[in-house]
Amino acid sequence: MKENVLKVSQLKVAYGGIKAVKGIDLEVNRGELVTLIGANGAGKTTTLKAITGTLPSCKTEGEIFYLGKQIRGSQSFQLVSQRLAMVPEGRGVFTRMTIHENLLMGAFTRDDKAGIEADVEKWYGIFPRLKERSAQLAGTLSGGEQQMLAMARALMSHPELLLLDEPSMGLSPIMVEKIFEVIRNVSAEGVTILLVEQNAKLSLQAAHRGYVMESGVITMNGDAKDMLNDPKVQAAYLGEG
Ligand code: ATP
Repeated sequence: MKENVLKVSQLKVAYGGIKAVKGIDLEVNRGELVTLIGANGAGKTTTLKAITGTLPSCKTEGEIFYLGKQIRGSQSFQLVSQRLAMVPEGRGVFTRMTIHENLLMGAFTRDDKAGIEADVEKWYGIFPRLKERSAQLAGTLSGGEQQMLAMARALMSHPELLLLDEPSMGLSPIMVEKIFEVIRNVSAEGVTILLVEQNAKLSLQAAHRGYVMESGVITMNGDAKDMLNDPKVQAAYLGEG
């Protein structure tokens, strides 16, 4: 039986008079990697922010269920302790803290000291560049390194659901490849993931299912492999056709 980890129903968000999200439905089942793709300004980030309680004061309607519980209006810190983690666009690392401190902050809801230390070592193994720079302030890292740190920090909380906003943005091709390799591995380990991306090809290749968002509405959804082969998706998002 499929179990919803996240279920968004008729979500609407308006910034003053601007309707950014116009009544969308979306669900992510346990263990799935689901991607939400769409052009600039389609409303993808706004959707993620509505889920994580990080929107500025603006009008939100509809329902957001996380693990069967309504969370619309919850604060982001409450959600982290319920094991819902987000890596925001622009990374959001603590720039005045060291890399090591950032990783430990990611585990602030845990109290298994030995497990936390083992996880820090695990992430240093995956991203050796972070280990080399562990005592350096996070603000001095390159964009790609900050993305690595932001992902590792979010995963230090052992999330049930991980939300990623444009993890490939502004990164070199090699870095993008590395980040997607980590996303695929984390998904294979069983973490449920909602991935917002403009790189439709890479994200549909990695995902189980996908949604296309245009001007605040979901215009298409389905199996990611089918979407990769869909002429409309190819023409609009994959630079083909
Ligand atoms: P991008 O990939 O560029 O981040 P997106 O699909 O994530 O695009 P959103 O950032 O969610 O899109 O923006 C959706 C719409 O809402 C856009 O028209 C944008 O201009 C508007 N918008 C976003 N944030 C605000 C804000 N704080 N105040 C007013 N309008 C906003």
